[in-house]
Amino acid sequence: MRMFIWRFCKNNIPVSTLRWSKGVQIPLNCPMCSRDIENVLHLFFECDYARSCWQRTELVFDMRGVEYAADWLLEKLDSESDDRVINITKVLSWIWFARNKKVWEEKLIGSSMSVDMSSRQINSWQVANRNAKRVKPQLGQVVSSVINWKPPDRGWLKLNVDASVKKGDSNFAIGMVIRNEDGNFIMGKNLRIAGCVNVLEVEAYGVWVAIKWIEELQLKNVTVESDSSLVVQALQQGSEYLV
Ligand SMILES: [Zn+2]
Repeated sequence: MRMFIWRFCKNNIPVSTLRWSKGVQIPLNCPMCSRDIENVLHLFFECDYARSCWQRTELVFDMRGVEYAADWLLEKLDSESDDRVINITKVLSWIWFARNKKVWEEKLIGSSMSVDMSSRQINSWQVANRNAKRVKPQLGQVVSSVINWKPPDRGWLKLNVDASVKKGDSNFAIGMVIRNEDGNFIMGKNLRIAGCVNVLEVEAYGVWVAIKWIEELQLKNVTVESDSSLVVQALQQGSEYLV
């Protein structure tokens, strides 16, 4: 989630047009509607799917004249109330979540369901931030902490793993993204797993799942990075993957 917002603000969401511009030859059509070319403005604002997601909130924005969605979001992070900022990021993240489900798993999620899942992720993220005794869970601060993301060494990949769980939920989510030394998206994976666990257990499980995934992919030279410093400390010994 935080990584997503950071990437959005950096104009680095790997939609088809961005990947094409980096030499990846893939279809340019929007995976949600297949009618238009998938760029950030289309996917998050103009696409019928995006419109149906925004309509589920009280947020109405006039995007005419907006050239870069990243600039638009940065302006909103600055000028809108905390509640509205949270809702904006919810909508953006659920559209991205649904888009990736469609692209990677060929599953189409209705906008109502993705609203629900995204809300849970955001709630978990707020709980996790409070538990970590960070300053109040305000988006600007979270964004600035993510800007500290450092690329891996030359020739290495970095896998960031983020886990979320909400108290009382019967399942939890793990998100992983692999990027190269230029910060470009290589591969991503989201999992929702049944079970009741606390935040620390989920973070630890997330790191374990990440290592398993690297093994499956037979990737070498991958650094795993977790938000949870406790987990990293606990697992550091004996694992060549962790920093
Ligand atoms: Zn579309």
